[in-house]
Amino acid sequence: MISSSEKEKLIAACLKAREASYSPYSDFCVGAALLGEDGRIYKGCNIENAAFTPTVCAERVALFVAVSEGVRQFSALAVCGGKKDAALPLAICAPCGVCRQALREFCGDEMPVFLVQDAEHFEEVTFASLLPKSFGPENL
Ligand SMILES: [Zn+2]
Repeated sequence: MISSSEKEKLIAACLKAREASYSPYSDFCVGAALLGEDGRIYKGCNIENAAFTPTVCAERVALFVAVSEGVRQFSALAVCGGKKDAALPLAICAPCGVCRQALREFCGDEMPVFLVQDAEHFEEVTFASLLPKSFGPENL
């Protein structure tokens, strides 16, 4: 359970992270913010590439930054996305399947995920609802 203050900061961080999106090919800008067990927020934006395949999503950027700094447990995720010039509130933007699986390695079933439209509008779901009957480390 995260506090309302943490939730507000996490939502603001994902909206801020979206501003750094490098998405010249799709013009679809995504921001993500993960609340680490250490209480810090790790941000990420999508980063596209002219060769397309190396493109990486905001959620995985945030996750990999956190893991690279030694953080492996998270208490919440916030994600927002939409066309570069889209007015707020954005449409709901949920993590793609690849990111759901990447997050599955480190995030618990009950972790809240905020699908953010703007600072006041968001949908809260559990991580398990995004990736039911998932495959994880305990399956090996
Ligand atoms: Zn993704």
